[in-house]
Amino acid sequence: TPVIVAIDGPSGTGKSSTSKAVAARLGLGYLDTGAQYRAMTWWMLANGVDVADAAAVAAACAKPSIVSGTDPLAPTITVDGTDVAGPIRGREVTSAVSAVSAVPEVRARITELQRSLASETAAAAGGIVVEGRDIGTTVLPAADVKIFLTASPEARAARRSAELSGADAAGLAATREALLKRDAADSGRTASPLAKAADATEVDTTELTLEQVIECVVTLVEA
Ligand code: C5P
Repeated sequence: TPVIVAIDGPSGTGKSSTSKAVAARLGLGYLDTGAQYRAMTWWMLANGVDVADAAAVAAACAKPSIVSGTDPLAPTITVDGTDVAGPIRGREVTSAVSAVSAVPEVRARITELQRSLASETAAAAGGIVVEGRDIGTTVLPAADVKIFLTASPEARAARRSAELSGADAAGLAATREALLKRDAADSGRTASPLAKAADATEVDTTELTLEQVIECVVTLVEA
């Protein structure tokens, strides 16, 4: 039977790198659910929807067609056929994504996409690693393995600023502030907040290398 792995946690914990590497190592599919919320946000901004207006976001959110490619070695994301992998990592999308993600209609639509993609991919590839904020609690509560990654705010800010480059590189203090603000918004919203499932295994990555985190998760999946 296919194995479903849910990996949740805030940003800067190594969630994406870990999830992709675990999926590649075990020959499973991979879904980055944050990329789907970013793609929805990119579409709202590109179409002039005021992201602070929840009713406007709710009214528009059924329009874009968001398609994710689930190969962990080459994940893709398109909106109405346009590759948005680059622009969804930009500062405009990053600062607007929490507001868009808090809208219940957006979550209902994207959750439905995630569930059907997870079951199709799991059946085709023997399993899937799904990373996000609410996978173990809401999207796939029956997942076989649930991991919740954490790290100190300092470690998370340092990792995030190492990832950013060029125009998007800000000071470490500004990066830390933006990251904590996004976590607070994601944790404080009413609809499926960022949370650890009661049956998830928490892994604190502060003192671990990426390779150690990958080993730890692979061991948990194979157990
Ligand atoms: O993982 P990433 O940082 O790319 O996620 C971007 C944003 O998408 C998060 O800050 C959060 O607002 C939203 N998100 C969510 N639920 C998920 C995944 C991401 O609300 N399952």
